[in-house]
Amino acid sequence: MTNGKLNREVFDVAVVGGGISGCATAYFLSRSGARVLLLERHDLNTEASGRNAGSLHGQIQHEPFLEEGEEWARNWLPALRFLADSLEIWDGLSEELGIDLQVAKRGGLLVADHPDQMPAIERKVALEQSIGIDSRVLTGDELREIAPYITDDAVGGELCPIEGKANPLLAAPAFATRAVEHGAVIRTGTSVEGFAESGGVTEIRTAKGAFAARKVVLAGGDGMPDLGRHFGIELPISSGAVQVSVTERIDPLVKHLVYYAGGKLTFKQAQAGTLLIGGGWPARQNAAGEWVLNPESLRTNLGIATRVAPVVSDVKLLRTWVGIGNGTPDHSPIIGPVPGHPNVILGFYPYMGFTAGPLMGRVLSRLAQDEEPGVDLRPFAPDRF
Ligand SMILES: Cc1cc2nc3c(=O)[nH]c(=O)nc-3n(C[C@H](O)[C@H](O)[C@H](O)COP(=O)(O)OP(=O)(O)OC[C@H]3O[C@@H](n4cnc5c(N)ncnc54)[C@H](O)[C@@H]3O)c2cc1C
Repeated sequence: MTNGKLNREVFDVAVVGGGISGCATAYFLSRSGARVLLLERHDLNTEASGRNAGSLHGQIQHEPFLEEGEEWARNWLPALRFLADSLEIWDGLSEELGIDLQVAKRGGLLVADHPDQMPAIERKVALEQSIGIDSRVLTGDELREIAPYITDDAVGGELCPIEGKANPLLAAPAFATRAVEHGAVIRTGTSVEGFAESGGVTEIRTAKGAFAARKVVLAGGDGMPDLGRHFGIELPISSGAVQVSVTERIDPLVKHLVYYAGGKLTFKQAQAGTLLIGGGWPARQNAAGEWVLNPESLRTNLGIATRVAPVVSDVKLLRTWVGIGNGTPDHSPIIGPVPGHPNVILGFYPYMGFTAGPLMGRVLSRLAQDEEPGVDLRPFAPDRF
């Protein structure tokens, strides 16, 4: 007999969400011998984890630093530490997973083209250095020497050597592939619609039947507020669509992950030779409420990219796409058990969750096995809001 509650398998851990956080969690759990179920409502890697710009971030982002101020940045340092520690996992990840994730860490460059932009960069670098990040202030000449493709108007900037890029189309699927090899069960097209906790086991209700697990990890990205509500917690996760553009392939030119101190920009060259241009420019909603391309954002984004790296103006744009990005009020992650529900663990990193994904997976897998997470999670407590 295979139907009926009595014969249903009770998994050690059920992970909700097949983005990089959930797939990495399933990998680390299954690798350590846990019996894991991963549930994804669509296909794996179809939301933010498969639509992002592939930047591996390791510096305080300049725009929130200017907008939120130095006090905010000081409080955000534990979240920066989390990114830096995750970047160390990225270093060996292709080898560990046996799949080339196109990880390259040749440094991030924040470009200033006005002297007034430099004092904020200097303060930001000092904060990064205070937690051991090896970033430094550059003069305009130093900047142009290491990045000749940058505008002659550059007056200086910052180099953050731990930053880089990876291919977002490869990372979460690679974790999932290896998780399955270690025995994880993955069910796609399976939307989680409810939970019932009883006797140390959680029933997970989906449109395709119910599953059971002793621990549940919620790694649902944009779906986290709905998932949290099932356990009575209101997660203040904001949601907004942003766009990324890709050009035709050009010869290797741009080594760094490039930012601009005067406006929103991330800019890099993928291993394939294409230039990826983004930085959080908003998409727009059409009359049907769907997120679609915002031409005004595209124009401004490309204008900034061209100003910082004039070569962009000669390269053909191939495609622009839209993805939902998510934030928290303090820009810090939400990690830990739901208050009053010790068997249900939340894992969410705002804005830069691709970079954070590998460490998020390791931390969530440890929490789900009642192990020390290896990270001080107090600044990320779900009930801090
Ligand atoms: C356009 C764009 C560019 C970005 N650029 C970068 C970048 O360059 N670098 C960087 O570090 N970060 C970047 N980010 C952010 C990064 O992509 C995300 O923070 C990260 O991918 C989040 O991963 P996740 O696994 O937590 O969530 P997701 O990738 O969103 O995965 C969550 C999954 O959970 C599933 N799910 C939700 N609810 C349910 C449910 N009820 N039942 C079943 N399944 C459910 C969803 O379908 C989804 O597949 C960018 C984001 C966007 C949108």
